[in-house]
Amino acid sequence: MIMNDRFWSKVNKTNTCWLWEGTVENTGYGSFAVSHTKGVLAHRLAYELSVGEIPSGLTLDHLCRVRNCVNPDHLEPVTCAENIRRGGQAKLRPFLENIKHLYISGISQPKLAKLYRVNQSTISRVVNGKRWEEENM
Ligand SMILES: [Zn+2]
Repeated sequence: MIMNDRFWSKVNKTNTCWLWEGTVENTGYGSFAVSHTKGVLAHRLAYELSVGEIPSGLTLDHLCRVRNCVNPDHLEPVTCAENIRRGGQAKLRPFLENIKHLYISGISQPKLAKLYRVNQSTISRVVNGKRWEEENM
């Protein structure tokens, strides 16, 4: 259980997303070193520790679109094809509430812009309730 503690100590549990504060890869996904030579994706490990084994052949889709979120409630095992289909239609609009919650929880605007891979000006308009346009995510 030592590994378990080490893992959760790197998680910032906001009232919506649980943000991984450890190593984040270029892809935006968090990674966790289970040993000196082996790293695993943080959200996959979080799911396995909290829910159980990920059914073989399935990938975890982030329902919140925050790639380094490890909240098991925000992760759903889906097929690769389904994940790609959902990713293709990703828009910011369904995630406004999540973004506002994260902002209230103390996640800064530059950080939110990074998490959602949009311009900071867009995040600023979202949290201030101003009109904004969808960007390509
Ligand atoms: Zn999340």
